[in-house]
Amino acid sequence: MSDALHIVCPHCHSVNRVPRERLASGGKCGRCKQPLFEGEPVNLDQTNFAQHIQRSDIPVLVDFWAPWCGPCKMMAAVFTQAAARLQPQLRLAKVNTEVEQGLAAQYGIRSIPTLALFMNGQEVDRVAGALDLPSLINWVSQRIGR
Ligand SMILES: [Zn+2]
Repeated sequence: MSDALHIVCPHCHSVNRVPRERLASGGKCGRCKQPLFEGEPVNLDQTNFAQHIQRSDIPVLVDFWAPWCGPCKMMAAVFTQAAARLQPQLRLAKVNTEVEQGLAAQYGIRSIPTLALFMNGQEVDRVAGALDLPSLINWVSQRIGR
């Protein structure tokens, strides 16, 4: 019996079991047949946020942002690059706080962009303000122990 990880599909949000050794090659969702990782962040909302945070066996890094926020645009470009580099070791996700005000309130987002790292359903750390790519990767690596 190989060691399997629960991976939440970024398209249909169903939970897949992926053998750890097959994670690097990505794989497709058993339900919707779309790739489990596409090298870019997944946009989450109130209906699927908890599913990703609580059911993913890999850490989930969330970028809380808003369309009117200048630094968020810089962060968005870096975040997409980071997704290509860091997935599938972790899942990168985005929450538009202008639309998802309930999530922003629930997680006490006071300034944007805010990056929050979740592991096993718990927020383990967050950082406010835009980061460049090396700083972002450093910050994450220190926290996930890689
Ligand atoms: Zn799917």
